[in-house]
Amino acid sequence: MPDIIESDLVIIGAGPGGYAAAFHAADKGMKVTLLDARERPGGTCLHVGCIPSKALLHIAKLITDVRDAKEHGLNFGAPQFDIAAVRNYWGKVVESLSKNLAGMCKQRKVELVNAKASFEDSRTLRLADGSLRRFQHCIIATGSVPTMFPAFDIGSPRVMDSTGALRLEELPGKLLVVGGGYIGLELGYVYAALGSKVTVVELTGGLLPGVDPDLVRPLAHRLKGLFEQIYLKTKVVKIADTGSGVRATLEGEKVTDTEPVFDRVLVAVGRKPNTKELGLDKTKVQVDPKGFIQTDNQRRTADERIFAIGDAAGEPMLAHKATYEGKLAVEVIAGEPTQFDARAIPAVVFTDPEIAWAGLTESEAEKQQKEVKVTVFPWGASGRAATLGRMEGRTKIVFEPETERVLGVGIVGAGAGEMIAEGVLAVEMAATARDLALSIHPHPTLSETVMEAAEALHGNTTHMFKPKPAK
Ligand code: NAD
Repeated sequence: MPDIIESDLVIIGAGPGGYAAAFHAADKGMKVTLLDARERPGGTCLHVGCIPSKALLHIAKLITDVRDAKEHGLNFGAPQFDIAAVRNYWGKVVESLSKNLAGMCKQRKVELVNAKASFEDSRTLRLADGSLRRFQHCIIATGSVPTMFPAFDIGSPRVMDSTGALRLEELPGKLLVVGGGYIGLELGYVYAALGSKVTVVELTGGLLPGVDPDLVRPLAHRLKGLFEQIYLKTKVVKIADTGSGVRATLEGEKVTDTEPVFDRVLVAVGRKPNTKELGLDKTKVQVDPKGFIQTDNQRRTADERIFAIGDAAGEPMLAHKATYEGKLAVEVIAGEPTQFDARAIPAVVFTDPEIAWAGLTESEAEKQQKEVKVTVFPWGASGRAATLGRMEGRTKIVFEPETERVLGVGIVGAGAGEMIAEGVLAVEMAATARDLALSIHPHPTLSETVMEAAEALHGNTTHMFKPKPAK
């Protein structure tokens, strides 16, 4: 019988949910073990997700900004780039952040173990080397993995998921992106900016299904200029490696060539929870038909010592939601009276323009048949947007009609992802239109659009004239 190492808390998965939980627990004096099958901490987000994609998106934006600069009298010539150096750039960013995390584990005396783990029973985990870990409590933070439909899983090196696309092995002449969601548009934008001819095929009637259509429109308009083709209401039925490319079979009303050939294909049709190989059948933990671990509002599973957070425990699959839940679970374990009570989980699509929203969206309000008042401030009326040459943006606010309380904020425009934090605070603090309108915003900044969208509720926006109804 091998020795069993005991921990107060074992966390499976060292992503933004897992490591945030580990640090919070260590700060509270718990003896913490943080396990991850990956050699370095940081999870999907740091190694093959948010961080590398944002590093590439930064480069893509530099390229498109340089092109746009011609309109402002600046000509830098055609951007030259070295694909290996670009790869190296994001690699270095990831390495340094990962090293920092490992360093913080050391400082906080969190035991970081590089091993795949599965449950032996409700108190014990077995690691890949056969050793056993017993825990008082365990948090499952194993995240998610890309969905790959069997029709696309043809074993061809030309077919990539998001991880493969981030590797940037080569710059394909023609790239097919299956799925017009977050990943399809972010990585499609990167490849298009670098010079690939990108075709996006989206099954539904619009890009970014679920996002308010008026926020998607300015992005869709810009992407039309950047992408070779965007097919909506179109299905990629199958793909086949021809030896020199990938032939895709497309079904859709507007498709003229139903069997185009591409150099590479990026499949970005969603992600699924990474919960299959955890041995959950040896515990009382319950999963839903999609594989998400079922938890209560304290992120407790049906097994009293086991908690689950982040992508493994349900939508939305966003790193910051995982971080919040990780800290919450630790506080519950520490006996503190707390529960999941976030009213606004911000979401950001990091294209250019960015789209960001928080709290109740106009589409959700419609779906729920909830009566709301919505105001919009178009960036065409913003001085700052004019100086940037980016007047396509819009900022909108969803209000509760009786109280004028801010229920949600949605923004499309350059830098919307940074600006949405004000919206989160407004929703969480139950700010009213007056609160936002009376908070002095610095001029000239894009943040003024939030203040002016709030002023619009009473028709007294400084930079928009609204004629009074005739008497
Ligand atoms: P997604 O759900 O955002 O988009 C998938 C898209 O694929 C949908 O629009 C869907 O209609 C379409 N689709 C499905 N089957 C198709 C088919 N056969 N042919 C054509 N289109 C098809 O999923 P994703 O882009 O893979 O991203 C997965 C998750 O990762 C997101 O939901 C998000 O939670 C997370 N993510 C977040 C960010 C961010 O925060 N910026 C970035 C990337 C990923």
